[in-house]
Amino acid sequence: TSIGVVKESEPGEHRVAVVPAVIPRLRDLGCEVLVENDAGTGAFLPDSAYTEVGAVPVAGAELYERADVLACVRPPSGDQVPRMRRGQVLVGMLEPLADPDLFRALAERGVEAVSLDLLPRTLSRAQSMDALTSQASIAGYKAALVAADAYGRYFPMLMTAAGTAKPAQVLVLGVGVAGLSAIGTARRLGAQVTGYDIRPETRDEVHSMGARFLDLAGVSVGSGEGGYARALSESERDAQQEALQQRIGEFDVVITTALVPGRKPPLLVTREALKGMRPGSVVVDLAAGPRGGNVEGSEPDRSVLIADGVRLIGAGNLPSSMAPGASAAYARNIAALLAHLVRDGAPRLDLDDEILAATVVTSGGQVRIGGGAR
Ligand code: NAD
Repeated sequence: TSIGVVKESEPGEHRVAVVPAVIPRLRDLGCEVLVENDAGTGAFLPDSAYTEVGAVPVAGAELYERADVLACVRPPSGDQVPRMRRGQVLVGMLEPLADPDLFRALAERGVEAVSLDLLPRTLSRAQSMDALTSQASIAGYKAALVAADAYGRYFPMLMTAAGTAKPAQVLVLGVGVAGLSAIGTARRLGAQVTGYDIRPETRDEVHSMGARFLDLAGVSVGSGEGGYARALSESERDAQQEALQQRIGEFDVVITTALVPGRKPPLLVTREALKGMRPGSVVVDLAAGPRGGNVEGSEPDRSVLIADGVRLIGAGNLPSSMAPGASAAYARNIAALLAHLVRDGAPRLDLDDEILAATVVTSGGQVRIGGGAR
């Protein structure tokens, strides 16, 4: 079996799906590893680093022709799909819910696509493959650094000859993987941190990180399926926005990371609420994306100074901004998935397997998202 490492095509994407450190493991599976020329340069991994561990750098044309399995980070572009061939397996974070046309095109070409972002995260044997977690944890870390960088005062309490600086008050909304990582990072920088989430089990997690939990008066809590949050009703959402608006002025920095799988991000912080923050405050919206974010008016990769001197930052592709570390973690997730896929030297997409039943999104010419053919 040949595993082909794709050079990412999305502008600004510097990660690479496979790093040299995992190549011995892939070769132990009986696989040959082909790497598209310059695939790793965005993560400071020249072709020579791959050659040293026995992988073979090749031009794109050869890669798409020879590889049995293609490994990527982001969904393929419209230019990449026509280069793929029938029976070729594609593994990556393919975001199958974002662009249905892409999956029809992949199915029509006969590509067998496996999307790591649909991995059942509660399954313990899938943990080593959990790329959403590895990348969200990097995003949360970086979001705290972005916030600290934009904030015009110290995060820690500091006593100096020039006086005492008060610690920054940081609020993290949504304490899933990214939120917990942001809390930990802001704490390590010395801020006083408060976390908030609607899943009741997060209270203990927030406390265990040495942070406070924000109780919002009049807002109901509750979990949904598979350990994820449920979507709030309109009146619950209004109550939450209202309650947050009352409290947000207590904080210097707000980092938002709320998400309900398959939905557009919940709007937690309204324009009105932002007006209640002090000048010089900073808000980083990790959920900012094409479908909006957790903060009204945030856009990905955009930092704006809004009324009254509050800086609103829509996060862009934060894992890509840490491409070496993010690629190293992602490559371990991909290697674990490939170890699961490749049996006796060949990839097998056994749809009775719990992991593959959830993650195989095109197979036998059909799109099958969520376990059934469509
Ligand atoms: P997660 O599912 O682990 O966590 C999301 C949390 O939000 C959950 O704890 C959930 O309970 C909470 N939540 C949902 N609705 C809420 C509400 N109304 N109020 C309060 N909390 C609510 O997800 P994650 O992997 O941590 O990702 C979080 C967000 O970060 C997502 O929007 C994801 O797309 C984004 N993200 C961005 C980047 C980037 O680089 N910009 C990278 C990774 C993840």
